[in-house]
Amino acid sequence: MRPKHLKGKVALITGASKGIGRAIAHRYEFEGADIAFTYVSSQDKTHQLEVEMRVRGVKIKGFRSDASDYKDTQKVIQKVIDKFGRLDILVNNAGITQDNLLLRMSEENWDNVINVNLKSCFNMVKASARQFMKQRSGSIINISSVVGVKGNAGQSNYAASKAGIIGFTKSVALELGSRNVRCNAIAPGFIETEMTEKLDPKVVQSWRDAIPLKRGGLPEDVADVAVFLGSDMSSYITGQVIQVDGGMLT
Ligand code: NAP
Repeated sequence: MRPKHLKGKVALITGASKGIGRAIAHRYEFEGADIAFTYVSSQDKTHQLEVEMRVRGVKIKGFRSDASDYKDTQKVIQKVIDKFGRLDILVNNAGITQDNLLLRMSEENWDNVINVNLKSCFNMVKASARQFMKQRSGSIINISSVVGVKGNAGQSNYAASKAGIIGFTKSVALELGSRNVRCNAIAPGFIETEMTEKLDPKVVQSWRDAIPLKRGGLPEDVADVAVFLGSDMSSYITGQVIQVDGGMLT
């Protein structure tokens, strides 16, 4: 039987009710992790994920928690530690877009995206850092984006939040490395999710054609890197940004 790369580890994934977060939860299950995750509005999808995994014997619990809310994240980390006894992997995946050209972007659009995408990472890491340091081990994985590396017209709020995640990731890696706590970022490119199914197929095809590997990424492509970074296979890797983009920025 193949070794399970996350056996004995407890992972917390923010925003795992759908999309990339859900794919990470499935890959983490396959690799033997116990799974805690958060969501905000997708109650039914959350319930379904919990039920299907529990039937297969997985220890899993979903918590309704807004990652942009400082006090909420303090509470959820404590609940995870109370229920699971430890925390080994934190995946900061929760994210939103509220796109608009700068001249049309409202202050609310800016604040919402920065709070959910960037402040959430601060909140979660701040709330869990002591536990990781006490354990003298831990892997923090922040989901950035190629847009945070390159910028994108119409997404100045989103690009700023995702670029901010990269600076935050490198700083946390420098601060916590001496305690064997690692912090890395994944920068996905164009990943095909439920959201992209609703877009004009011609537009989506033109995006695929512009990518060297000639396809959009799958949530599982991102999840595989999250397995690597969460596991001991990456025990000498910290402060890095791994692009999962089919060569899009190459
Ligand atoms: P998605 O399908 O829209 O899923 C987003 C998840 O985040 C949902 O589970 C949602 O929960 C949760 N969420 C939203 N706001 C939250 C909050 N305040 N607190 C806690 N959870 C919250 O998005 P996705 O495409 O999988 O994207 C996941 C991450 O990858 C995001 O950070 C995104 O920026 C990044 N990314 C995506 C792509 C792409 O092409 N898809 C590319 C680059 C980067 P509810 O459903 O309960 O609201």
